[in-house]
Amino acid sequence: MKRKDFLKTISLIMATPIITKAENVISELAKAGATAKMPLIFIGHGNPMNALYDNNFTQTLKGIQNKIVKPKAILVISAHWLTNGTFVSINPTPKTIYDFGGFPDELFKVKYEPVGAPELAKEIKEKINYTKVQADETMGLDHGAWTILKHMYPNADIPTFELSIDYSKPAAYHYELAKQLNFLRDKGVLIIGSGNIVHNLGMVDWKNPTGAFDWANEFDSTVKSLLDKGDDISLVNYQNLGKSALLSIPTNEHYLPMIYTLGLKTKNENISYLFEGMEMGSISMRSFTIN
Ligand code: ZN
Repeated sequence: MKRKDFLKTISLIMATPIITKAENVISELAKAGATAKMPLIFIGHGNPMNALYDNNFTQTLKGIQNKIVKPKAILVISAHWLTNGTFVSINPTPKTIYDFGGFPDELFKVKYEPVGAPELAKEIKEKINYTKVQADETMGLDHGAWTILKHMYPNADIPTFELSIDYSKPAAYHYELAKQLNFLRDKGVLIIGSGNIVHNLGMVDWKNPTGAFDWANEFDSTVKSLLDKGDDISLVNYQNLGKSALLSIPTNEHYLPMIYTLGLKTKNENISYLFEGMEMGSISMRSFTIN
């Protein structure tokens, strides 16, 4: 090898790690959320007792913090805050709400109380013009939020607030409203929809903790294939999806949080499933992330 070529080769070899390092810095910056859009998450929350359980589902929730950058704040759209009109919580100190009955005392002793995010809530109020978003000063965190966040971010060190679901409006309203929340993703806010794709409490089979009725499996699979195809329109018009849809969504409050995550999805974003499974015959635990 001529001296000139040798020097060229050496300089290339030496240059390589420097380039690699520079690339690493860029990806580290992206990971740190400098300019990255936060992903979206839909969680099928199921039984409130999951707050206390250690099972495959709660292990999945625990693993989420290693998969995504730490959020600056968390906005939860939960099946358990239903209102006439759309509200956002501006409460700076939301308390744990035990919005259920008939569970062991241990569950009523769980406290999950991060601070709220009143500034972000006020920004939502100002920026959204699809509807008039009203401020709620007293809302805490309902069990659709805290039973999952307790596993996802156990230190409760991320400001967390909720947006309500207006029960008087059709699914298409929620899909359109969600689009206007997108600015939050660029501000490091993690938006979580917390509900269940299949949720029929009237048909719950307590003796069958991980089983499912045929119609429940059928509708869960139908939703999965529509999610995979990106067919949001069919998912918004779920009433047209046959008998299994009617049995799976007798009331739509647990389904609508998923519609929010779909409305927030931007072009070229994909769905990755975090968890698949059934609880007590008639509840789907399917959970996913979008990014
Ligand atoms: Zn629920």
